[in-house]
Amino acid sequence: MKKDLRFIVIGAGMAGMLAAIRLRAEGYRNVTVLEKGPQVGGTWRENRYLGLYCDVPAHDYTYSFAPNPEWSGYLAPGAEIQQYFEDIAERYALTQIIRFHTEVVSCTHGIGGWTVCTRAGDTVEADVIIAATGVLHHPRMPEIPDLDTFEGPKFHSARWPDTIDLAGQRVGVIGNGSTGVQLVTALAGVARQVSHFQRSPQWIMPLPNFPYTDKERQAFRENPALIEAVRKDPNLVQAVHRFTTAIANRDSAEMAELEAFLADYFNQSIADPMLRERLRPTYRAACKRLIFSATYYAVVQRPDVAIVTDRIDRVTPQGVLTCDGIQHELEVLILATGFHADRYVRPIAIRGRHGIALDTVWAQRPHAYLAISIPEFPNFFLLNGPGAPVGNFSLIDVAERQWTYIAQLIAQVSTGACREIAPTQTALAAYESRRIAAAQQTIFGSGCTSWYLDATGIPNTWPWDYATFAQAMTAPNLEDFNLQS
Ligand code: NAP
Repeated sequence: MKKDLRFIVIGAGMAGMLAAIRLRAEGYRNVTVLEKGPQVGGTWRENRYLGLYCDVPAHDYTYSFAPNPEWSGYLAPGAEIQQYFEDIAERYALTQIIRFHTEVVSCTHGIGGWTVCTRAGDTVEADVIIAATGVLHHPRMPEIPDLDTFEGPKFHSARWPDTIDLAGQRVGVIGNGSTGVQLVTALAGVARQVSHFQRSPQWIMPLPNFPYTDKERQAFRENPALIEAVRKDPNLVQAVHRFTTAIANRDSAEMAELEAFLADYFNQSIADPMLRERLRPTYRAACKRLIFSATYYAVVQRPDVAIVTDRIDRVTPQGVLTCDGIQHELEVLILATGFHADRYVRPIAIRGRHGIALDTVWAQRPHAYLAISIPEFPNFFLLNGPGAPVGNFSLIDVAERQWTYIAQLIAQVSTGACREIAPTQTALAAYESRRIAAAQQTIFGSGCTSWYLDATGIPNTWPWDYATFAQAMTAPNLEDFNLQS
């Protein structure tokens, strides 16, 4: 085993930390993580908006090897998740191998492997690169006329100001994805008035949260099997299975069941028929990522919360003018308008064999064999890359399963079976054509807009159910790879 392979992990978020921990556990000594920010945590470091929590059950959104008996409730708030990652960084001594404030600007493949350049002008040589740069980290500002004329504080949800007091203010929130819904729910009763600007209605799944008592936490501490029981709760496992079966096959019985449930919940939750029609989605449930909230429908029926469904005409110095001529007076404007989700490892300039640019390879859409590796970019592996599973389940589990697969590719190099490994063009082409055909049949491709769709309108997601993903990640088929000595 060559344990002196040089690894560069890009990003110290959930996936990059996982890679670093796993590599060191596997005995590799030369592992460096390059992180552009000042701290670990990735999306949980970047997002600090009011009301932020993870709508995936906390014990499920936890590394399998580092259970956390201290979660405060079934769903954990963002700050607590960030603390978990900071604690993990300490516990696994990751801070010794992470270079913070180190933005990677390019990775170039050459005869001796990869050369990684940083914004500060340093270069680092690597045999293997793990791109763990996340998906949702380039805020998307809305193209709304006169946005810059607003006189009060105005910011994207992922650029939350350190000091902002929203108590007693008239606050506008544009966007009603998972972020906007969590924000508005938390703002109700804090702000004087909340105006929630909704361009498209959302389907909402009522997922109740509940706190863990001190006694329960003590029990988790004393008996880790109880945590495992929460993670392996047959109801949760079944729910993920049924959900991924439904999204993979929009004509399935599971999808029909989900749609009926959500329609019932919707119809029963909104008392005013006029408000109900304004909130009624005109596309199929789960086409956009489902919003998980047991409280949003109650919140939008409060007198201090207004749902604004008329199109936004423009922003004015004092608020937002809608096309019906109404000026919505605001003191603070929050843009929960999502992210450029097609960037992945970019804007880092990646050049593979013969100088080929990743931007060129990805000109039509970002893609990778099994979401992990790309021909002509040897020893370069993506975690949570294009075409990986996304939805209402744990991305930690996704990354851990991907690691199982990547570790076996790396082992080919470290055992000397080859110096470099990358998938064949034939394997990628066959895989992508199967994936695209299946993706068009998923619920994500049933006729709505969302960040799941690529520039050509095809879902850039794992299109099969979760069991198929789990199976695909158990072991690589080496016939699909070029092993170069
Ligand atoms: P998003 O789902 O992309 O939603 C963006 C929202 O902004 C949509 O409602 C969109 O309307 C609206 N919008 C965009 N441009 C607009 C414009 N010009 N005028 C009016 N409205 C505009 O973004 P997000 O809510 O930040 O969520 C992104 C993802 O982050 C989620 O899907 C999820 O994967 C993740 N997330 C997870 C959690 C969690 O608890 N696990 C929490 C928050 C976020 P349209 O629908 O009409 O385009």
